[in-house]
Amino acid sequence: MLTPVDRRAAEALAWLEPHAAAMAELVVELVGLDTENPPGRGLGRFARSLEGTMEALGCSPEIVEVASHAALEDPCVVIGSVGDGAGTIYFHGHFDVVPAQSRDQFRPVRAGRTITGRGSADMKGGLVSMLYGAIAARELGLLEDRRVVLHFVCDEETGGHAGSGHLRDHELIDSGALAMVTAEPTAPVVWSACRGAITMRVHVRGREAHVGQAHRGINAFEHATRIAEPLHRLAAELRERQTAIPMDDDDAAGSMLVVGGQARAGANFNVVPGEAWFSLDLRFNPEEELDAMLGLLRRTVEEAAAEIGADVTIDVLQAEPAAVTDVESPTALALARSIEAVEGTPAPFVLSPGNVDIRFYAQRGIPAFAYGPGRLDVSHGPNERVSEDALLRCAAVYAVFAGAVGS
Ligand SMILES: [Zn+2]
Repeated sequence: MLTPVDRRAAEALAWLEPHAAAMAELVVELVGLDTENPPGRGLGRFARSLEGTMEALGCSPEIVEVASHAALEDPCVVIGSVGDGAGTIYFHGHFDVVPAQSRDQFRPVRAGRTITGRGSADMKGGLVSMLYGAIAARELGLLEDRRVVLHFVCDEETGGHAGSGHLRDHELIDSGALAMVTAEPTAPVVWSACRGAITMRVHVRGREAHVGQAHRGINAFEHATRIAEPLHRLAAELRERQTAIPMDDDDAAGSMLVVGGQARAGANFNVVPGEAWFSLDLRFNPEEELDAMLGLLRRTVEEAAAEIGADVTIDVLQAEPAAVTDVESPTALALARSIEAVEGTPAPFVLSPGNVDIRFYAQRGIPAFAYGPGRLDVSHGPNERVSEDALLRCAAVYAVFAGAVGS
């Protein structure tokens, strides 16, 4: 027997089907605009193009300028709104993309109901599904006393400070909102939790000396490698601290620390290095606290430095807490039912292996999820692509969810 949600799913798919070609063409257009980040190219140009499209679709767009940040070109957030009810549902996405393997990735190819190009999966395809999902919900009368607020941000790939961080810091995220969904490439699962992230740079100072008088120098590289040793042991220990939240890849259930992802020392091979630095990047499970993890890393570095008399300073480049949304909540169940009604099978809720923008909303107590039409295994790669059928079905899920949440 068809439930009301099943009927809405069928209606949404029927409404979207005649728009499938326009959706695909819009994805091609958006993928063709280079928004590589880093460095954060063409963000303002992309936002103006998106604004024009949203205007034509009746999504009341507005571009919010953001203070300059790193090398981002014209950082900004595009906000839109569909419907005029009191209950807010955030549809969120980012329009920056990771650097391409080839310039050809900005000349998207549409063939065999698949669009190939940088950002097609992560996540310009998802943005298009959100736009059409919101409109479908409005046109089918599903929104009732709700409205969809669109938050499209410019710098998710480099930490989110000028995007979702700006929205949070400027009180543009309403803690009374019913839900938030971001269109990360998660299909066929939902990310209902994400890891926290800490990125540090450990600087070590020594004293330069010519190789012929090496005994007069203090080798900063040697100190750096000795400070790194206990960090490698810590990385092994952290991998054993496994999360209880289900994951796609059970072998990845421990917190992950990469020591020396970036490193540099010295001026030349024939000089005792007077300076050295290396990076630390930790993705910690939601069971861990941000401050405790920061303290653990700092202590490990400082104790190792003290033991060998090394002169060390630590720069914290990123410190973001983890986020968890209750998967038994009515909002989570509404999302699960919406997916099942469209896809035929329910999607499992799992922990994202990385740090995702859901945290900015979850921090405000908003049930926050990542669910999008792309697949993670092709995102960021040379053959990034998205299925046109997935775009359409995902838009239907968004429409049905907007009509189901909080009702
Ligand atoms: Zn992404």
